[in-house]
Amino acid sequence: MDRLSQERRSWLMSQIRGKDTLPELALRSLIHRMGFRFRLHRKDLPGKPDLVFPSKKKVIFLHGCFWHGHICKKKKMPKTRITYWNEKIDTNRSRDRRVIRQLGQSGWKALIIWECDLKKMERLKMKVTRFLIES
Ligand SMILES: [Zn+2]
Repeated sequence: MDRLSQERRSWLMSQIRGKDTLPELALRSLIHRMGFRFRLHRKDLPGKPDLVFPSKKKVIFLHGCFWHGHICKKKKMPKTRITYWNEKIDTNRSRDRRVIRQLGQSGWKALIIWECDLKKMERLKMKVTRFLIES
C-alpha cells in the first residue's frame, strides 16, 4: 500500500514538527543567550506559539519549511503523491494565516522563523532583535 521508500519516509518523518525538535532547541537557546526571556507553547493563545514574550505581547513561531510551504523547499518537493502533500501544506498555510490574524485581533504581534533561517545565525539574530526591540 505505502510505496514510499524507506529513505523518503525517514526524510518525511524528519520534516514533521514534534515538540522540542532540534531546530526548536537551537532557536530557544539562541534567543535565551541574546538575553530575552520567554514562555513556551502557551495553549491559551491561537496556534500555541513556540515562544511567547508576555510583557511585549509578542510571539515567535518556528515553522518547518516543508510542512508550512516555505519557498526554499519548492524545488525539493517529493515527486510522488504531489496532490496529497500540496493539500496538507495548503491546509497548514491557511491555518497559519488564520492564527496570525487571530493573534493580531487580540493585540499580539507574531514573527515567523523558518527552519532554514537557523542556517544563517547572524541574520536570524538581527531579525529577532528587530522584532523584539524595535517593532
Ligand atoms: Zn525555508
